[in-house]
Amino acid sequence: MKPATAERLRAALPAGSVLTEREDLKPYECDGLSAYRETPLAAVLPSDEAQVAAILKVARETKTPVVARGSGTGLSGGALPLADGILMSMAKFNRVIEVSAASRQARVQPGVTNLRISQHVGALGLYYAPDPSSQIACSIGGNVAENSGGVHCLKYGLTVHNVARVRAMTIEGDVVELGCEGLDAPGYDLLALAHGSEGLLAITLEVTVKLLPKPESAQVVMASFPDVESAGEAVANVIGAGIVPAGLEMMDKLATRAVEDFVHAGYDLEAEAILLAESDGTREDVEHETGKMIEVMRASGATGIRVSENEAQRLLYWSGRKAAFPAVGRISPDYYCIDGTIPRAALPRVLKQIEAWSAEYGLACANVFHAGDGNLHPLILFDANKGELENAEKFGADILRLCVEVGGVLTGEHGVGIEKINQMCVQFRTAELEQFHAVKAAFDPEGLLNPGKGVPTLHRCAEFGAMRVKGGQLPHGDIPRF
Ligand SMILES: Cc1cc2nc3c(=O)[nH]c(=O)nc-3n(C[C@H](O)[C@H](O)[C@H](O)COP(=O)(O)OP(=O)(O)OC[C@H]3O[C@@H](n4cnc5c(N)ncnc54)[C@H](O)[C@@H]3O)c2cc1C
Repeated sequence: MKPATAERLRAALPAGSVLTEREDLKPYECDGLSAYRETPLAAVLPSDEAQVAAILKVARETKTPVVARGSGTGLSGGALPLADGILMSMAKFNRVIEVSAASRQARVQPGVTNLRISQHVGALGLYYAPDPSSQIACSIGGNVAENSGGVHCLKYGLTVHNVARVRAMTIEGDVVELGCEGLDAPGYDLLALAHGSEGLLAITLEVTVKLLPKPESAQVVMASFPDVESAGEAVANVIGAGIVPAGLEMMDKLATRAVEDFVHAGYDLEAEAILLAESDGTREDVEHETGKMIEVMRASGATGIRVSENEAQRLLYWSGRKAAFPAVGRISPDYYCIDGTIPRAALPRVLKQIEAWSAEYGLACANVFHAGDGNLHPLILFDANKGELENAEKFGADILRLCVEVGGVLTGEHGVGIEKINQMCVQFRTAELEQFHAVKAAFDPEGLLNPGKGVPTLHRCAEFGAMRVKGGQLPHGDIPRF
């Protein structure tokens, strides 16, 4: 049956759009979670909606699963192919279709990279606010599927808050419009449902993003701290003082040293932790807010403060933060990026525990994260060739369990994919998982879109030994969250 699927795809699509040779499939074997690899049955590269419909028709008729792929920068294995499945790359959907300065919106195809949107509308004095560190490469279709965040999301919201409309195709080949270009769409908020749905519900064909006017001025404060706990407290104190910085990021010493060697951003190498806090707005607002942030950070124990003196220095400070993952990649053969979110007040406790586990597991851990959102990214350093992957995964699972225990969630922005599928059994109980499956079945009754990702089967949870039963104790109360 499977070779027949490839033949049918070839018959339905233009020449060169169906890849089946092993060497041609290599680039599609994994996403950013490269410890997991699989060769798909075929990779297809559609360039218009009719071709997507043709692929889904073949998938339906041959009961072949389909995994959508944007740029493959995902860190949870969402775009990991299935051996018996079609890998559908959306790379050829790469046009900015229309920009409306009047309504401050842009209609783009899903393969357009995040950064290209801001570059495209920059001359109009506009930009697209969510800015994942991977923005030079990741696609807007992937951003919607993961509900991606970034440095500026503390003030301006995640992808879901910056998208007005998604045009998508269901497995049946029906085109659906979720949301609208007006202020609010009627009916259930299916646009929000599409965000973070990890390619399980439909294939995104077009996205209308909201654009913002570029702020008149922006400045970054870099504050040094003698330990990660006091930096964590400073984060809570900044927010507690009623300040909402445009970005509030933390890096520990291991991370700043790795970055400084790579980017020469001018970070304080003696500090155990640094905070980068941005203020943006009118010149007067920025001056006032920056002064307030410095006051709070000093009162929270900052041992040094630097303020960006010009735009070039501001961008340099951020370029270090944005290059932190690849910088850490230079000091270790492998690293495992964890993504969990906790209430800000729990930052000191959780960071201390991570430090203790790092010593226990004998694996170094660099912390680089969206501190203002409480979105942690511990980067566990390991060497797969020395058999350290399993230990790194156990360390990561401990961190995620702790995130849930302190009232947080096991993903902030990187999604569940295959990486955190077992931990979903820790976060959610049976009734909740059943509802998630019901939503999936409403869109995709035969389970052909990205099966095995995002939501664990109840059987899997039982095997994992973490099945929640009704009435079971949840660490943060027994209230279902749908
Ligand atoms: C160095 C580095 C830094 C990063 N920093 C951040 C960060 O700051 N913030 C953040 O949120 N993430 C970050 N990420 C993670 C990643 O870049 C984001 O998750 C991003 O949104 C993935 O986009 P992509 O185009 O690469 O998607 P892919 O990896 O190709 O796919 C991700 C998921 O989206 C689905 N998908 C893709 N396109 C479509 C489509 N058209 N229709 C339906 N489903 C689709 C896939 O099936 C998959 O489940 C980082 C990654 C790296 C490598």
